[in-house]
Amino acid sequence: MIYRPYGKTGKEVSVIGFGGMRFGDDDDYAAEVVRYASEKGINYFDTAPFYCDDRSESIFGKAFKKMPNPYYISTKSMIRKEKTADEVRARIEKSLGRLGVDKINFFHMWCLMDLDQYRRVMAPGGPYEGAMKAKAEGLVDHVVFSTHCTGKDIRTIIEDDVFEGVLLGYNVINHPFRQEGVQAALEHQLGVVTMNPLSGGLIPRYQDHFSFIREYDEESTVQAALRFNAAQPGITVVLAGMGSKEEVDENTAAVARPLTVSEAKRREISGKLTEKLDALCTNCQYCREKKCPSKIKMNLYMEAYNLSLLINSDETLRQLDWYHDRGELKAEDGLPGDCIACGICETLCTQKLPIIQRLEAVQAMLDQRS
Ligand code: SF4
Ligand code: SF4
Repeated sequence: MIYRPYGKTGKEVSVIGFGGMRFGDDDDYAAEVVRYASEKGINYFDTAPFYCDDRSESIFGKAFKKMPNPYYISTKSMIRKEKTADEVRARIEKSLGRLGVDKINFFHMWCLMDLDQYRRVMAPGGPYEGAMKAKAEGLVDHVVFSTHCTGKDIRTIIEDDVFEGVLLGYNVINHPFRQEGVQAALEHQLGVVTMNPLSGGLIPRYQDHFSFIREYDEESTVQAALRFNAAQPGITVVLAGMGSKEEVDENTAAVARPLTVSEAKRREISGKLTEKLDALCTNCQYCREKKCPSKIKMNLYMEAYNLSLLINSDETLRQLDWYHDRGELKAEDGLPGDCIACGICETLCTQKLPIIQRLEAVQAMLDQRS
């Protein structure tokens, strides 16, 4: 394993970080996977309230009772829910209890979407104040933020010099469109943790399509994607969700090869990237039908629409059939054409996708077929 300094914190963290959002149903096995990752040299463990039906922090708590090596824990406060300093404080107490630790090493203001929200977080009596008070009491080491803002807005936040690190979405497919945030963090010596290195599972699902990112015969497309992130100047940790020991092995092996990308490969990758790849749904599921007045499972339709961008509309229709076969789309669910354009899902979308317009396009594909 390779370790890098996390910004100016004095902490050395593993370049592959463990994302605690992909655990299966068996909590004991999940805790074993965490300990296995520790044996393999991973020392950066990332969780959050609500991950895995709100079990993730407790799974880490179980694992931490017998960790083989020293570790750092990162967790978060859902700033859309915890809007005051007192609510953030209550969240920290809860997380400490579940994790079974005295201190959270990296505490994130979770999911800043734009500068308005950032200003609400920083307002007197707001979430940031709560986090900083906890830091003064020794309950938190470092206050950091996670974000889906544009690179320009990330730069504005970083230049205020109030956070010690940032967690942001970055991968081989969208990197040209996300570079400014990483660059700003590099200039200000912040730790940078990248989430979503596999583009929400798109890269593993379409390995053949993305095989052009590989540089070694023996590496998988997934490993090439992780290695690509780890090779970028300014990136400290590449966070990957891990639910099994096999995934730990595959992810840690990715950094066994040189953490460089040749100029020829960079040129080849750049030649294939277009803005449409930045416009892919990452299946983050921040939208969801629960909030939709027409009960449309828009995340599934957006994921299927990805295939129109990558391949063609027949693949989108095939994917929708697959969702129906698996029972993920049901007869009682809203159809794309039922969208009343209220805009709720678009305000929640981390990729800022034109969901309404895409639902119209998917409905047109369905109409054409029938
Ligand atoms: S814009 Fe359409 S899909 Fe999105 S929440 Fe509103 S009705 Fe649902
Ligand atoms: S549409 Fe946006 S919010 Fe919904 S799953 Fe896709 S990227 Fe995430």
